[in-house]
Amino acid sequence: MTINIRPEIEALEREIIAIRRDIHKHPELGFDVGRTANLVAQFLVSCGIEVRTGVGKTGVVGTLKGGKPGPTIALRADMDALPIQETNDVEYKSVHEGIMHACGHDGHTAMLLGAAKVLAERRERIKGTVRFLFQPAEEGDGGARYMIEDGCLDGVDEIYGLHLWNFQPFGQIGVKSGPILASADIFEIQVNGRGGHGAAPQGTVDAVVVSAHLVTALQTIVSRNTNPIESTVVTVGKIAGGDNFNIIADKVVLKGTTRAYTEQNRQMIKRRLREIMAGIGQAYNARIEMDYEDGYPPTINNEQAYRKVLAAARRIVGNGASEPYLSMGGEDFAYYLKEVPGCFFFIGSAPVGREPMSVPHHCSYFDINERALLVGASVFVQLIDDLLIAS
Ligand SMILES: [Zn+2]
Ligand SMILES: [Zn+2]
Repeated sequence: MTINIRPEIEALEREIIAIRRDIHKHPELGFDVGRTANLVAQFLVSCGIEVRTGVGKTGVVGTLKGGKPGPTIALRADMDALPIQETNDVEYKSVHEGIMHACGHDGHTAMLLGAAKVLAERRERIKGTVRFLFQPAEEGDGGARYMIEDGCLDGVDEIYGLHLWNFQPFGQIGVKSGPILASADIFEIQVNGRGGHGAAPQGTVDAVVVSAHLVTALQTIVSRNTNPIESTVVTVGKIAGGDNFNIIADKVVLKGTTRAYTEQNRQMIKRRLREIMAGIGQAYNARIEMDYEDGYPPTINNEQAYRKVLAAARRIVGNGASEPYLSMGGEDFAYYLKEVPGCFFFIGSAPVGREPMSVPHHCSYFDINERALLVGASVFVQLIDDLLIAS
C-alpha cells in the first residue's frame, strides 16, 4: 500500500497534529464552540484568509479568493464534541469533565486548517474561490441549517466534506455516488389504555400488552414493507410504563429512531408507523399517539462530484479509494447537499495496531490514527488543485 501524502501537507504534519490535540484537549458542545471557533478564525487570518465569524450562531467562514475568476468550491469541517467522559490515558486527554471529541470533529477541523494554509500559499494560481466552512452543532442540533440560513452557501457551486472513519483501516478512502448516510428521525409513541387490578383484566385495556404487539408489528416495516435490496431501520430504544407486578398499566411510552437512505423510504416508514399504530389501537381499544420529529435527511452524493472525489482520492491512496464501509448513521452535511451538488466521503482512520471496528465513534476510548489527518488534508488540496488550478 503506497500512500502519497501531498508534500506540502507532509511538511505541516506537526502543526496539523498539534492543532488536533489542542482541540481534543479542549472539547466544546453543540453551538457552544467559542474557543475552537476563535482558534479557527485566528489561524485563517494568519494565513491571509478573509474571515467571517458568528455564522450559524458560532460558525466560522473563511473565503480565499484566487488570482483569477472561476467557480466557488466550499470545503466543510465540523467543530463540536460529545457529552462523553473520555477514558483514554493520553497526553491530550480532554480536560473538560464529561465532554470529549469522540467522533473525530477535532481532526476534521485540523485537516481543513492544514489544507487552508497550503491553498492560501498558492492563491495566485487558483481560478475561482475556496470557501472554508467550520460549523458548530453537527451532533444533533443541525448546525448546518443555521450556517445555510446565514448565507454560507451564497455563490457556492459545489461542496465537499469528509469524516474520519474508524470502521475502515488507515489508507482507505470510502466514497460512493448516491446515498452515503441515512436519514435519522426520532419518534415517541404513547399507548393509552385503562388500568386496573392485575388479577381482574376484564374491562381494562392493558397498555403493556398493546405495546408488545406494537413493537412486534413495527418490525414488519423493515422486514415486509422495505424492498429487500434497500435498507431501513426502525429501532424502539426505550420503553417505559407500568407501576407494579399486580397493576395493569394504563400508559406506556415508546421512544425510537428510524433510518433510511432515500426520502421515499423515509416517508414510507412514517406512513406505516401511523397505520400500524391506528390498526393496533383499534384492535385492542387503546388510544395511541405519536410525536414524530424529522431529523437529518439522507446524505446523497452527486454523481459528478463523486467522480471528482474518487479521482483526487486515487491520487493520494491509489486503490485504497473505493466503496465505503456503510452505516445507517446520519450527518447534517445532508442539508448542504440539498442546496448544492457535492460529495461526502470517509477517511479510514482506525488507530495503529487496532482492528477497524474495535474503536468505534461515540465511545469513551475513541481515538484515531493521526496520519489519517494528512490523508484527508491531502485530498482537500488535491481536489482544489484538480478543480480550480489544473482545469
Ligand atoms: Zn458523531
Ligand atoms: Zn461526526
